[in-house]
Amino acid sequence: MRVAIAGGGLGGLTLARVLHRHGIGAVVYEREDGRSARSQGGLIDLHPESGQRALEAAGLTAEFRSEARPEGEELRILDPAGRTLLHHRPEPGSFAGRPEIDRSVLRDLLLDSLPGGTVVWGQRIVAVTPRAGGGFGLAFENGYSVGCDVLIGADGARSVVRPLLTAAALAPVGILAEYTLDDVERRHPELADLVGPGNLWCLGSRRILAAQRQGGGRVRVGVSLPADGHDIEAYRSRRALLELFDGWDPRLTALLEAGAGAPVVRRIEAMPADTRWEHRAGVTLIGDAAHLMPPVGEGANQAMLDGAELAAAIVANRADPDAALRAYEEAMFARIHPIAAMSARVQAMMLSPTAADDIIRFFTG
Ligand SMILES: Cc1cc2nc3c(=O)[nH]c(=O)nc-3n(C[C@H](O)[C@H](O)[C@H](O)COP(=O)(O)OP(=O)(O)OC[C@H]3O[C@@H](n4cnc5c(N)ncnc54)[C@H](O)[C@@H]3O)c2cc1C
Repeated sequence: MRVAIAGGGLGGLTLARVLHRHGIGAVVYEREDGRSARSQGGLIDLHPESGQRALEAAGLTAEFRSEARPEGEELRILDPAGRTLLHHRPEPGSFAGRPEIDRSVLRDLLLDSLPGGTVVWGQRIVAVTPRAGGGFGLAFENGYSVGCDVLIGADGARSVVRPLLTAAALAPVGILAEYTLDDVERRHPELADLVGPGNLWCLGSRRILAAQRQGGGRVRVGVSLPADGHDIEAYRSRRALLELFDGWDPRLTALLEAGAGAPVVRRIEAMPADTRWEHRAGVTLIGDAAHLMPPVGEGANQAMLDGAELAAAIVANRADPDAALRAYEEAMFARIHPIAAMSARVQAMMLSPTAADDIIRFFTG
């Protein structure tokens, strides 16, 4: 059985790792040229029931604990006047909650756990074609092509495998503008104090100014806006972002003042929360390819759990991979639909005119 995994993100690598632990080989085709070709983004908090469970199936719990930062779970919520509305401090050194880990460190843990040659770098899939007699042909941008018996689309938000299974469309749910501040302890000690070891959210009416401590002395600063009523092109300058926070405590807007140059601005999209498809022989989807949802802390966790659960189903049905894909899909739809719906509600709540009251009620029950 030749298993091809499209995409070497957290979902695809978890799948390859758990298969490998059970003696099933797979090839991961990844468009990036190498593990450090692109910045992997910020911290991820791994939940015990999903991301941490997947790492346990991957046999990587000890490695995760030696790299994770439980203190990164700290959360400070402020209002536009700089008043503290909530300050959550995790138990020192405890892994009982949702410890944070740098996404690139987590990806490296998974990459280092795979035999050499499992990930084929620099292979952007441009077409996927069903073959007469079963399986799929993959065509790459560089002209190379391969065949496989089982194809797993783990290729993220703009999956090229997804159209084989569903026509579900992406809809805009927000705009995110970001800066990364380097060497904050030395260059911006007052901002380092403001942000603390974890997350800071400053909640206004239909806008959030947030900051998150990263590894290597960096802080990531982000402005989130609803998708409706905002033109993404209007927020490609610091001045435009600062105008959104006119009248806010200058200690907060200093986070934006400290950013260098123009912010990185992108549209945030999601698939319908109830996306599902009829099973098709030899192919399925995991992670964002299967269920892109608003980024409120579930996507990577669920992508990793998808990878671990699909691998377990394949291991349990080695002689009948389609029974495995079917079993995985039904369990995944039942798990994901409520999580995707909840993520959409939380995203809407965080960007509502009454976000501060709503979020405090959410956290304090
Ligand atoms: C701002 C932001 C913050 C987030 N924060 C969190 C968080 O705190 N916690 C959390 O759980 N989730 C978070 N998420 C969501 C999380 O990033 C995703 O859900 C997660 O990365 C999905 O993993 P994946 O493996 O399915 O896809 P990806 O991580 O997108 O990986 C897909 C891989 O496929 C490759 N690829 C794509 N197309 C092709 C192609 N044609 N050929 C070959 N390779 C291809 C890509 O290069 C990539 O390596 C956040 C998302 C955003 C946008």
